[in-house]
Amino acid sequence: MGRAGSAVASPGRREAAPPGYERLDAEVPVLYALRLAGKATEVRGYLAQGYRALGRILSVEPPGIVAYLVAGEDWTDAPRDNARPYPPGLPYFTRSVEPPALVLPEELSSVFRPRSAATLPLTVWHELAHAFLLGREVVRTPAWLGEFVPQAASAAVARRAGLPLEEHLSRIERELGFTVRSFSGPAGAGDQMSFQNLLLLIGAAALEEFGEDFLRRIFHALWEEDEIVDEERAEELLGAALGPGGREWLVSRPEFQEEPL
Ligand SMILES: [Zn+2]
Repeated sequence: MGRAGSAVASPGRREAAPPGYERLDAEVPVLYALRLAGKATEVRGYLAQGYRALGRILSVEPPGIVAYLVAGEDWTDAPRDNARPYPPGLPYFTRSVEPPALVLPEELSSVFRPRSAATLPLTVWHELAHAFLLGREVVRTPAWLGEFVPQAASAAVARRAGLPLEEHLSRIERELGFTVRSFSGPAGAGDQMSFQNLLLLIGAAALEEFGEDFLRRIFHALWEEDEIVDEERAEELLGAALGPGGREWLVSRPEFQEEPL
């Protein structure tokens, strides 16, 4: 069913761009502040690449979603799950509106590191991967698995799009006081970014080692789980999804140790 002419289809959930936003049609339509027209076109391109690539990689019907490209002054009016506005400059995915939406800021927060030509597209593809995963019911998982999946997916889209990641990955700081498994909240934004970057390193390495098919397997495995996934089960699921030797490879990674080596 289309939504045309139905303003009351789903009480409390609606497409809710701030007033005066324009719409750029595409597989993932972009609602944007008028002065961000150029950026909207750029973002639409990343969304189209990611949407097609993830649909193919995961062998799923892509979810019906939109993206909001929100001007700084409108950030507090952007749709979100909680009453309080989120910190400026941090993109997120929300199901508080129909269709569900990726909310992208005019400028990424300075917390996003490293800064390269890959930073914005990887960030867009990360949120898009969350949207694909949340297109079906998913149980709770350890934070590292819940964020590894979109990080690896964004690296897989980059590979397909021919976006070289070497330079970006080479600038990631590896000597940290934690690993992806010893990392625990509440953490500052800088540590959150470091955590995400360690997961990106594992994701990119996994793609090199095993190819991209493990992504389809881990998405489907997560959709099939109906109990909360604990540490042990998370390692088992990802190890199995990677393929033969996957779990051994995973536990041998420096980023995956219980504590920093
Ligand atoms: Zn995420």
